[in-house]
Amino acid sequence: MATNRTFTMLKPDAVEKGHIGAILEKISASGFRIVAMKLTQMTKADAEAFYAIHSERPFFGELVEYMTRGPIVAAVLEKENAVEDFRTLIGATNPADAAEGTIRKLYAASIGENAVHGSDSDENAAIESAFHFAGREQF
Ligand code: UDP
Repeated sequence: MATNRTFTMLKPDAVEKGHIGAILEKISASGFRIVAMKLTQMTKADAEAFYAIHSERPFFGELVEYMTRGPIVAAVLEKENAVEDFRTLIGATNPADAAEGTIRKLYAASIGENAVHGSDSDENAAIESAFHFAGREQF
């Protein structure tokens, strides 16, 4: 069942470089409504749990280090076809492969430090939103 919601994080590199405003502007201009949002920092345990699916991958240690080194902006976004449309808006995992005008093309430095997260399914969007937000924090 499509839920019309997705979950995003503006990752530590995007926050460090001062891109919060520009990225949120692009997200809003692309028709997404922000229904939950906060500045927060993931603990090592948080990042290991959030990215558990990648625990056997060679980049896992670096990924956890990166995702915990500073604050992130976590948000839940609403739009028709939210998961797929948001993945299109952020672009490919590796910014070198990302289409022109996508958030990763504009703001990501590398495949590791790629500025933004977007859920890859409705099921994961619900799991990831619940990971970061209590029900009363989602509007
Ligand atoms: N990642 C990495 N090296 C890789 C692939 C992924 O460091 O070779 C990181 C990157 O930050 C990516 C995250 O792990 O966003 C999750 O990877 P996934 O394949 O799920 O990509 P995404 O869904 O974020 O595009």
